[in-house]
Amino acid sequence: MIWAEDGKSRPICRDEVGNHAVQTAASFRLMGPRLADRLPDMAMAEKQNEYAAPSAHPTSERVFSGVQPSGLPHLGNYLGAFRNYIALQERGDAIYCIVDYHALTSTHDPEAIRRNTHDMAIALLALGLDPGRAILFRQSDRPEHTELAYLLSTVVPIAWVERTPSFKEKKRNRPEDVNHALLTYPVLQTADIAIYHAGRVPVGRDQQAHLELAREILRAWNRTYGEYFVEPEAVFTDSPVILGTDGVRAMSKSVGNVIEILADEATIRKQVMSMVTDTQRILRTQPGRPEICNVCQLHRFFGDDYEYIWDGERTARTGCVDTKKLLADRIISHFAEARERARELESKPDDVEEVLHAGADKLAPLAAETLRVVHDRMGLARKE
Ligand code: ADP
Repeated sequence: MIWAEDGKSRPICRDEVGNHAVQTAASFRLMGPRLADRLPDMAMAEKQNEYAAPSAHPTSERVFSGVQPSGLPHLGNYLGAFRNYIALQERGDAIYCIVDYHALTSTHDPEAIRRNTHDMAIALLALGLDPGRAILFRQSDRPEHTELAYLLSTVVPIAWVERTPSFKEKKRNRPEDVNHALLTYPVLQTADIAIYHAGRVPVGRDQQAHLELAREILRAWNRTYGEYFVEPEAVFTDSPVILGTDGVRAMSKSVGNVIEILADEATIRKQVMSMVTDTQRILRTQPGRPEICNVCQLHRFFGDDYEYIWDGERTARTGCVDTKKLLADRIISHFAEARERARELESKPDDVEEVLHAGADKLAPLAAETLRVVHDRMGLARKE
C-alpha cells in the first residue's frame, strides 16, 4: 500500500497506480530488486535514448522525484523513497533528477558536488533504476528549472517560504550559512516538478510540507495566470519514516545516524551494531519490546520470519546483539548484487555521464514548451 497526501492520508489501491506501482514490505522481501531482470547487457545510454520523450500535455500521472547528491544512499532513502522510484518506473512515465542546484544551498565545494552527483547516479542505477524505463538526469543540465523557479517566485509571499519547517531547522542548525537559495529551495523544488507537469512525487514523509507548499504555489500561479499546472501529490511507501541508528530521529545524512546500503560490509556491520535498541532492556535475560525496537522494526523488510525474531526478543530467547548481527547479515546480502553493480559502474564513468546527458536531452522539448506557455501567460512574450 502507498499513501497519497491530498490534505489527509489515504491509501491508494494498486489499481489506481497500475501494476507493480509500489513495493509493499511483503513484495520487497519476496522479490528483492531483481537487478538482473532490470539491467540487461544493452548499453545504458542507448536505453535512455530509446525511452520515448515525455509528452508536453499536463498530466497527473507522470512521476517525478529529485534526490540531493550527498554521499552514499542510506536505508531511509531506499525504504522511504528509492524503492518507489524503481516500482513506479514500471508504468513508463517517470523522471528522476539528481538535484545539484539544491545541493549548492549547503555545499560550496565544487569537486564534492560533481563527485557526489556522479556517485548518486551510480547508486540509483545500481539499485535498479533503469534508463530504459525512466529518465534519469542532472538538474543543472536543464537550467530551465531555475528560470521557472524565478517566474513562480513572483506569486509566492515571503511568509510561505519562511515558515517551511526545513528552512527553520537549517537556520537553527547552520546559522553561519543561511543563504538566499536555502529560503527559496521549495520554489525551485516546485519548478522541478511543475516543469514536467508531474502529478506524483515519490518521497519520504519529511518532504510532505514541501509538497503541500508546491501545491499552494502552483494554485496561486493558476489563479493569477489561468489553469495550467497540475497539483502534485506525494506518494509514500509503507514506511515513509525510517528511524536512524539512534532509534529516535529519522535516518538522515545530516544527523549522521545512517546505514549506508552500498558501503562495504564492515561499514554496514559497524553501523548496524551501533544501533540503539529497546533502552529499557538492560540485561540479556530481560524481555524486550520489538514494537519500539528499531532493529526489530527493520527486520520486517528483510525476511518473512520477523514475527519469530520479535518473539525471540519478547521471550528473551535472543539478545539484542544476536538480532543486530542477523539484521546486518541480511542487509549485506540483500544489497550484495547492487554493490557489485555499483563497483562495475564505477569503472565506466563515461557511460554513467552519458545516461545523465541523454536524460536531460530527452527533457529539453518539454521544458521549453512549459516555459513558452508560462512566458506567454505572464506577458513576457509577444502575443501569439
Ligand atoms: P537525507 O535526509 O539523508 O539528506 P535526502 O534529503 O537526500 O536524504 O532524501 C532523499 C529521499 O529519501 C527523499 O525523498 C526523502 O524524503 C527520503 N528519505 C530521506 N530520509 C528518509 C527517512 N529517514 N525515512 C524515509 N524516507 C527518507
